[in-house]
Amino acid sequence: MRKTKQREVILRVLGEHIDHPSADTIYEEVRKFLPRISLGTVYRNLDIMSESGTIMKLETGGSIKRFDPVTVPHPHFRCVKCGAIEDLPFELNESLFSGSTDDWAHGRTIQNLNIEYSGLCINCNGSSSS
Ligand SMILES: [Zn+2]
Ligand SMILES: [Zn+2]
Repeated sequence: MRKTKQREVILRVLGEHIDHPSADTIYEEVRKFLPRISLGTVYRNLDIMSESGTIMKLETGGSIKRFDPVTVPHPHFRCVKCGAIEDLPFELNESLFSGSTDDWAHGRTIQNLNIEYSGLCINCNGSSSS
């Protein structure tokens, strides 16, 4: 099996998700297209792709690594109850990333940003336990 084909499918599956899936979730869906692919191969490809900047691996509070097809640094919202991770539609200070317009950023290279809000998502906020 061609490696590029595997990555194409993984990237396509991830691109259809806005909910920042785990490697296990990605594996389940990739298997529909590539039935013989192993979980280890999916993990390895996700690692390679996040190291090369094709996708982003999220450093969230949870123990399970989640993946994001959006590679521009952006803040996240994590639900403490169900673990859902959503993107926030907030503007960031993009000038820090270009490194040229901000005095402070001069001489520094900013590579990543890790902002995570946490709380209850719409579903968990609305549901009562009774
Ligand atoms: Zn929730
Ligand atoms: Zn995201």
